[in-house]
Amino acid sequence: MTQDTNSKRFEEVPCPFCSLLCDDLVISQLKDSLKVKQNGCKLAKTRFEENQPRVSPTIADKACPLEDAIMESAKILKRSNQALIGGLGTDVNGMRAALRLTEKAGAVIDHMHSNAAFRNLDVLQNHGYVMTTLAEIRNRADLIIFAGTDANTNFPRFFERIINPSHSLVKINKKERQLVYIGDKLDSLPAGKSPGKRPIKLQCRQDQIGEVFSILHALSVGLEIDKPIIGNIKLSQLKKLTELLHKASYGVIIWAPGELDFPYAELTVQTITEIIKYLNRMTRFAGFSLGGSEGGMTATQVTAWQSGYPSRVSYARGFPDFDAYRFSGKRLLETNELDAIFWVSSLGAPIDLPDRRIPSIVLAAPSVKINGKPDVYIPVGIPGINHTGQMIRTDGVVSFKLKKLQNSEHPGVADVINRITQAYR
Ligand code: SF4
Repeated sequence: MTQDTNSKRFEEVPCPFCSLLCDDLVISQLKDSLKVKQNGCKLAKTRFEENQPRVSPTIADKACPLEDAIMESAKILKRSNQALIGGLGTDVNGMRAALRLTEKAGAVIDHMHSNAAFRNLDVLQNHGYVMTTLAEIRNRADLIIFAGTDANTNFPRFFERIINPSHSLVKINKKERQLVYIGDKLDSLPAGKSPGKRPIKLQCRQDQIGEVFSILHALSVGLEIDKPIIGNIKLSQLKKLTELLHKASYGVIIWAPGELDFPYAELTVQTITEIIKYLNRMTRFAGFSLGGSEGGMTATQVTAWQSGYPSRVSYARGFPDFDAYRFSGKRLLETNELDAIFWVSSLGAPIDLPDRRIPSIVLAAPSVKINGKPDVYIPVGIPGINHTGQMIRTDGVVSFKLKKLQNSEHPGVADVINRITQAYR
């Protein structure tokens, strides 16, 4: 295992580019570029191997020294009455620094994917839920239901690492495992190629998934249902699935909040989590949420342990003030309630700056596409490529240490934000 920066080959490299955080990549360093040699998906190859353009900090689109960009950022935040510290595509240290700056500036902090995250968080806060981990799915699950997600499209190595791993902690009979898909336009091809029973596919619109689970719950408790079909799913199919739910030794329902993109989708999550609770009376059942990419899970966890709340926190009154509606960054932008935007994207997500004239500060990896011209632009290094760091996986129970693979002339997000906070007087 070779891991210092002089080495040409890095093993067991964690990948920060989706929230699975696969930690088995093998990467070679070739002059100024990196090459994924083993275990990277297409997304990982693109991100690790892309050439970062040569850029410098700018103020009003003119190149400037980093120190000037830092001072100008501090000035903009000082002048603001309500700034948004958003994006937050960064690692643990970047988030810690962002929270310190938010407090200093009396600003609002909110992650770019919090709309999706709150489909879960609303349910967690109000009702609680029973969840599991990637390791438990890999080692124990014999019935896996994909609700509105195929996992494969947005988490490319999910099947390779979790459904078809080369080894597992305990010996499970993969041939007996049943996979079920409920929803629309789900790619079940990886399931067809996996050992196990033939996958069951139940087709309905994404916004009908909640109704499907309501009926499964009703059938589970023994109620008669007088509805022959939902979407393309017959009642007889749901009755058969109910039997499978009861017979499972360890069932898991997987959803991706980002893919339940319709009004009141939190009610769908609640319906899923309630049937899970009920099924635990007769067998073992758990939920699993696939989400939190672009540093989303890391942002939620760090914000929670530092402020007591998961996201959408304002420090305008000098203490953490949470309101999932009022302090939504998206809502604040739409209603023109902001007078400064501070946006962080060091993991690759493109940035769309608002059309209207709000002073904006952008910290982004050099290759990040920015639609609009920020008042201050500061290029930053990429965690897991240009500097070490730490990120938290989609199940929220494991954090991974990221490696430094390649030098960069640009500082990391935490370094830049800490310097802005110091300059803020
Ligand atoms: S699946 Fe996600 S974490 Fe794994 S290699 Fe691909 S982008 Fe990286």
